[in-house]
Amino acid sequence: MCGIVGIIGAGDVSIPIYYALYALQHRGQESAGITTFDGKNLFKHKSQGLVAEVFDEQILKRLKGYAGIGHVRYPTTGEKVSENIQPFSFLFRGRNFAIAHNGNLTNTEKLREEYEKRGQIFSTTTDTEIIGNIIADELRKSNSMEDAVLACMKKLEGSYSVVFLSEDKVYAFRDPLGIRPLCIGETKDGYIVCSESVAVDALNGSFIRDVRPGELVCISKKGLEFIQIAESSGHGHCVFEYIYFARADSVIDGRLVYDVRRNIGQALYLEAPVEADLVSPVPDSGIAHAIGYSENSGIPYREGLIKNRYMGRTFIMPTQEDRENAVRIKLNPVRGHIEDKSIVIVDDSIVRGTTSRRIINILKEAGAEQVHMRVGSPPLKAPCYLGVDMPTRKELIASDKSNEEVKDSIKATSLHHVSIDSLIKAIGMPEDDLCLGCLTGVYPLWIKGEKGCPRYTDYIKGSYQTHIREFNE
Ligand code: AMP
Repeated sequence: MCGIVGIIGAGDVSIPIYYALYALQHRGQESAGITTFDGKNLFKHKSQGLVAEVFDEQILKRLKGYAGIGHVRYPTTGEKVSENIQPFSFLFRGRNFAIAHNGNLTNTEKLREEYEKRGQIFSTTTDTEIIGNIIADELRKSNSMEDAVLACMKKLEGSYSVVFLSEDKVYAFRDPLGIRPLCIGETKDGYIVCSESVAVDALNGSFIRDVRPGELVCISKKGLEFIQIAESSGHGHCVFEYIYFARADSVIDGRLVYDVRRNIGQALYLEAPVEADLVSPVPDSGIAHAIGYSENSGIPYREGLIKNRYMGRTFIMPTQEDRENAVRIKLNPVRGHIEDKSIVIVDDSIVRGTTSRRIINILKEAGAEQVHMRVGSPPLKAPCYLGVDMPTRKELIASDKSNEEVKDSIKATSLHHVSIDSLIKAIGMPEDDLCLGCLTGVYPLWIKGEKGCPRYTDYIKGSYQTHIREFNE
């Protein structure tokens, strides 16, 4: 769970990168960083905190250069220490590099051991540094970035969307299964590659397309180049991006996230209709799902809870008690909408169950007669090893409880999670192109392999190249 961006422009890119990171803030609130290159030197600034806390005008002015990358971090691997804040930069054979990564490698330990045996030194505990090291090691052999990324992809297991600053060029690549999102846009005077299309919108740019799974993109003053490095017979796009993680106004792999959520809400009504006075979302994560439910049912959409905009996500509070108290400050019931009413309350997902339990309690205390809970994800059964911060199996309320048991535990009048089939239909992709690991415990990486099997990966490198546009200062 991180956000990444890379920009090449005519003038300094620190401010556009800052805006792009602002648009991607939902992908990570723990730390932020920017690295730029001005033709001669690398400039960098990174620190713990939100984008607005980490950077100010003075700092952005110091970050000179027409090429740069940025990162917002939500720690999924690596400790929460300042050395682990990205982008990482390094000097190798007189050349300046920087790297930022969204995703999670599943063979980090093995790779670290392999490289440490050769005498490689690591200064952080993250998987991102390993990717940087592999690329540098390969560049030593061939000096071709395509060859280096090809060799790197063959070694990496897991999910990775990467931006890589190599002096005056920004490279970006996406794992062969396309697990985490990555897309490209055109700005007034250059190009942007970023986790979600909302960052292109923030710069008033135009969206070009998603980076394809297994594709390498190079942006430089010469224009834009695409090189297919690896091709898989099926993909593994993360369903949780659509359910919860991405912004609703993003378009990911050709699907507007908002519409996927509305489709899910519509399916929720078809699967579990109920008579009620109003449909209310859990703000903000359940809004689009609730609108879908209201559309299909004809039950009026009305907010039963108002969110305090000035509070962070309760999920990031350290203890269970903190999380429970924080929900009350964060959400206040609209008594006039709720008293003596039967309510359908819609949220994107139930993880530990804390939020739903508290919300149902708040609604009942405010006078609700019935609270029917509808959930935009199927029951979360298993942890995520591919980049979403999910608790262990034991902490996931649905991992060992039936629907009835979860319903009783959160004290809902009724409870329904959308089915896996309806979720797949709502996204509109074949099942073999999705990662459903958190719902089924079966992960796309574990079922690749044999030729002819879903998601067999071929390393083909350089099947096509396209130059879109050149631009000059
Ligand atoms: P919980 O109290 O653990 O059941 O929290 C569930 C709520 O947290 C959901 O309604 C989501 O909006 C949100 N959520 C789900 N997954 C995550 C995650 N990986 N990180 C932060 N928040 C999440």
